[in-house]
Amino acid sequence: MSLYVHIPFCRSKCHYCGFYSLASSARKEAFLHALEKEMELRTAYLGQTVPKTLYIGGGTPSFLSAPELERIVAGLHRHYPLPAGAESTLEANPEDLTPANLRAWNACGFNRLSIGIQTLDDAVLKRVGRSHSAAQALIGLERVAAAGYENVSVDLMLGLPGSTPAQTLADLELLSHFPLSHISVYMLGVDPGSVFERQQAAGKLTLPAEQETVSLFLTVSEQLKQQGFEHYEISNFARHRAYSRHNSRYWQQKPYLGLGPSAHSYDGTSRQWNISRIETYIASLDKGILPFEREELTLSDKYNEYVMTSLRTMWGAEWDLLRKPPGPAASDPEKQLMSYIENGWARMEAGRFILTETGWLFSDRIFSELFVV
Ligand code: SF4
Repeated sequence: MSLYVHIPFCRSKCHYCGFYSLASSARKEAFLHALEKEMELRTAYLGQTVPKTLYIGGGTPSFLSAPELERIVAGLHRHYPLPAGAESTLEANPEDLTPANLRAWNACGFNRLSIGIQTLDDAVLKRVGRSHSAAQALIGLERVAAAGYENVSVDLMLGLPGSTPAQTLADLELLSHFPLSHISVYMLGVDPGSVFERQQAAGKLTLPAEQETVSLFLTVSEQLKQQGFEHYEISNFARHRAYSRHNSRYWQQKPYLGLGPSAHSYDGTSRQWNISRIETYIASLDKGILPFEREELTLSDKYNEYVMTSLRTMWGAEWDLLRKPPGPAASDPEKQLMSYIENGWARMEAGRFILTETGWLFSDRIFSELFVV
């Protein structure tokens, strides 16, 4: 199983973000207390299975002080001891990459950093509400390398308002001077509940044309491949096989336990999700009650999840599983799958059905065509 902890605090709210987090750390102490209570109450959830990976995300986990992160890690080790060498990722923002923090995170056992850079254009960073500058990102990456972290991922975002393809390619060039093992490249979406959603509704958001962003994604992908990265998942590139082990386990439908407000958990047959409201999360755990909702997965749900997760990766899905959905499909599944191969969106390899890079660009459509009810 894998462990995920959601830290629901950020310095400020980025305008595109729909993740559950608060632009304030006022409830930090009460949250840490509730999180420790949740760790204690959830120990039976996945039986005696040992965690294989840990991922602390959010929100902005690096916004917590080093002693606060140490407290969380100590709690996790008490209840869910992580074997030596297990992948242990901390999400961090560039402004938190100080030499002291980097030393403390290493001492806590974090052996992988995932850094939200998004772009190295200061005007765009400001326009989208990021709390760091391009210089902070570059200095931060130098410090990360000097501190000896070998497994380092950065997030980039394409299609941000005011961004240009030329700037993105210049960003890639600058980043190529750092020993990164992993890069996630996302195309901007307007998330429900985000500032951009409100700006779009008010006609105050101008985004680059979708076709321009799609073609930029393909150019970025080519550049990264020339730098030795493998495009192993729709949005993810890894060098020297440094695939995200934690996220790969999601894509392989392996069980996971999520702690913190809005975190999801999966035990192989059902899914749970914690309430996305910190006040209710804290009040409920104060009374010793886990604040979650639960859904039993049907065979159709599991098939749809298999489609949506396995086809995201370069390993694809087993042809024999894919062509025999458990429920009625909109059209003949085998014919449908063959049509993707015929128009270059997929290929077969050793009994596996794998989407091509072009297929990934149409993945939303492909998934919805393959889903069963
Ligand atoms: S993108 Fe990250 S840093 Fe920005 S508001 Fe969302 S969770 Fe916080």
